[in-house]
Amino acid sequence: MRIFHLSAECYPVAKVGGLADVVGALPKYQNLAGLQAAVVMPYYNRKFVKENVFDTVFQGATLLGTRRLYFEILKEQTDKLGFELFLVRIPGLLDREEIYSYPDETEQFVAFQIAFLDWISFSQQSPDLIHCHDHHSGLIPFLLYHSKLYTRLANTPTIFTIHNGQYHGAFGWDKLSYLPEIDLSKTGLLDWAGGINPLAAAVKCCWRYTTVSPTYLQELTINSNGLEYLFYMERAKGVGIINGIDTDIWNPKTDPMIASNFSVLQVSKGKQANKEALCSRFNLAPDKPLVSFIGRLVIEKGADLLATAIEQSFNEHPGQFNFLLLGAGEKETEIELLQLKAFYPDWFHVFIGYDEALAHLVYAGSDFLLMPSRVEPCGLNQLYALRYGTMPMVRTTGGLKDTVIDFGDEGGYGIRYNDASVEDICEAVSRALVLFNNTKHLQSLRKIMMALDFSWDRSSKEYINLYKSLNPII
Ligand code: ADP
Repeated sequence: MRIFHLSAECYPVAKVGGLADVVGALPKYQNLAGLQAAVVMPYYNRKFVKENVFDTVFQGATLLGTRRLYFEILKEQTDKLGFELFLVRIPGLLDREEIYSYPDETEQFVAFQIAFLDWISFSQQSPDLIHCHDHHSGLIPFLLYHSKLYTRLANTPTIFTIHNGQYHGAFGWDKLSYLPEIDLSKTGLLDWAGGINPLAAAVKCCWRYTTVSPTYLQELTINSNGLEYLFYMERAKGVGIINGIDTDIWNPKTDPMIASNFSVLQVSKGKQANKEALCSRFNLAPDKPLVSFIGRLVIEKGADLLATAIEQSFNEHPGQFNFLLLGAGEKETEIELLQLKAFYPDWFHVFIGYDEALAHLVYAGSDFLLMPSRVEPCGLNQLYALRYGTMPMVRTTGGLKDTVIDFGDEGGYGIRYNDASVEDICEAVSRALVLFNNTKHLQSLRKIMMALDFSWDRSSKEYINLYKSLNPII
């Protein structure tokens, strides 16, 4: 019953986005359900790693092309995250501070995967299933089944979860020598559009692939940065499972990162206290409706539309609401937003950067959370917002479509719109402001939002059923 999750991110060790939240929670819930799930990730020179004690459980050496690499596997001593956590440390390659964006990223992640396979192979471990997440571990299914070094493990089932199908980790054939001895008649499985494409290789070689929402599974066949045909051809292997949220961490009743804890019974009072803390920090008036955005400032998230849409909404409803933005990403978008702050200092504030605690307070203290995403594989922000009684305003796409029902429809509790456009965002803001003035209606919707169940209990069972369908001993 031993499962290894392989990922570049895992909360709270190293987080950039939703991948970390999922890998930091799913194994914990799987262990509670009786599995023995562990996480294996690269070593990062970050706070969690520095502040916790690790044992070296394996040391080895491997080859990346002609470069000999020494590596070690470290295990966190106490399993404090609710699962065994293993880090792959490779001096000079996997011992840095940042998670992504190094020029030798290909070398980093190929070495990570080879070191993992060497470790379990040489230490004679036989996992019952290997669960890979995103392209950083996408070569593992291919290597398991088509490298002569790992034939002992060739019957191990693999699942590949796509958290973001826009990034493939592709690199040139000139780096084929990085891979350990492989069956050369199978190199076509690595190929897509003339290069080695780890995401494509994973989809071709894994036993099953999953996406983090059912709608995203369909959308990949029409928008996946060049892999549409592959997703169409392989669709019989695909399963959509909506993400859950870690309700221990994201709990307004106990969350130590917010200003005032609250339950559904005191939602108005609780939210107002958090809004006051938030507004006093950013010099905004706490009596006005507060709309927020949290996330990576990239085109996928519709971040390029924000400055224009916010300004247009301010012109349509001058002085009637405030907007708070927390994010980092593309430079032009950051500059545009900072400029907007200079024009509207009383109504708008932008915090450029990554701040986990501030994100919690924004979910707790805002009235509405805007998500005009062009692509949203699942989206966790809307689920956190709902849990804290904050109404999500989402574009109808991917996981947003699967988790948010418009309050105008039966059983609804959010605001939905069809296009990632300035017009649709402004229309959504107008609807939000009308709703805000209908206190009773908003109150009753907040109660509905907070009672929704997006916990991992449900989603982790779906993964376990999938595991069982591949390996009956699980
Ligand atoms: P993605 O993984 O595509 O970025 P998700 O909605 O799946 O989007 O997950 C985003 C996660 O990252 C959430 O936990 C959100 O709160 C967090 N997050 C994003 N940007 C920031 C930021 N600037 N500061 C703090 N948390 C952030």
